[in-house]
Amino acid sequence: MSDAVQTQSTPNAAFTPRVFSGIQPSGNLHLGNYLGALKRFADAQEQGIESIYCMVDLHAITVWQDPADLARATRELCAGFIAAGVDPEKSILFNQSQVPEHTQMAWIFNCVARMGWMQRMTQFKDKADKNAQNASLGLFAYPALMAADILVYHATHVPVGEDQKQHLELTRDIATKFNHDYGVDFFPITEPVIEGAATRVMSFRDGTKKMSKSDPSDMSRINLTDDADAIAKKIRKAKTDPDPLPDSLEGLRDRPEAMNLVNIYAALADLTPEQVIAEHAGQQFGTFKPSLADLAVAKLSPISTEMSRLMQDQGEIDRILGRGAERAREIATPILHKTYDIVGMIRS
Ligand code: ATP
Ligand code: MG
Repeated sequence: MSDAVQTQSTPNAAFTPRVFSGIQPSGNLHLGNYLGALKRFADAQEQGIESIYCMVDLHAITVWQDPADLARATRELCAGFIAAGVDPEKSILFNQSQVPEHTQMAWIFNCVARMGWMQRMTQFKDKADKNAQNASLGLFAYPALMAADILVYHATHVPVGEDQKQHLELTRDIATKFNHDYGVDFFPITEPVIEGAATRVMSFRDGTKKMSKSDPSDMSRINLTDDADAIAKKIRKAKTDPDPLPDSLEGLRDRPEAMNLVNIYAALADLTPEQVIAEHAGQQFGTFKPSLADLAVAKLSPISTEMSRLMQDQGEIDRILGRGAERAREIATPILHKTYDIVGMIRS
């Protein structure tokens, strides 16, 4: 009896804690990816939980990618992970297409997920824009592949930015429906981990849109490959309002651009937004922006320098990805096989 209660209140108690997260190698790795994902992966590494980080190249091609650019962006992303502090010995780092179990599991999930669920995904609506009939089938099916990325490792925790919340809910729905339809407790109900001061870094051009790799305006984001001058210029030109910083967080309500810069400062400095406001209350952006630029340059320059150093040894990056893929497959293969057994696929 007490076991049953425990299973109900902590559905993942039977699963070993395991972290999974992915980033698309769609170029232009940016400050939002760093604060919402990479920095948090590096910070979490010391917790001693097995962590699997994936360059999701199969997601990237849901919109057309030039092949040479895709290969380069995948290696650059791997360099970005390492430069941000993710250790390929402690964590498993690889690119998705080298582990075929992701797409094999995705097919099973395509048959579990319902059309109505997929049609509610706001990211598809945003990315397909007004041209949904001309979007790829892959862009529509992407969240089922993402569920497979996570569940093929029985991952219990997924650190992501706020924009991925809906996809994580879909992952939980798919796990729940699979478990229910087959009468098993096989997949964990994964917890999204959306934490920190900058879970949603906004565009520098428009405080209501998230900073994105795929935004056509380079001024909308700080790329991790930007040099000190570019970083300072982009912050100086970031859209703001004419008022000084208020003396409480309350005063940032309805000021999305100002709020964004305060949140970025807080996340880079490992402070809370309240602490940043306490330190900078009453400042004009003419004063606050240069402080933010100095901080951003101090934190990001070592990363971009390390990324370009790592990029000079392509062979080493490819070896890291290959070794990571082998380690990933050791976990994924038995889980996929068990899934096939549950579903009734013959494996001889
Ligand atoms: P794309 O525009 O190609 O979708 P993206 O910038 O959204 O690129 P993703 O590869 O889709 O980047 O996301 C990688 C990780 O970065 C995810 O965990 C996502 O939640 C996080 N992330 C993306 N954009 C932001 C942002 N603006 N603020 C905080 N986290 C973000
Ligand atoms: Mg995205």
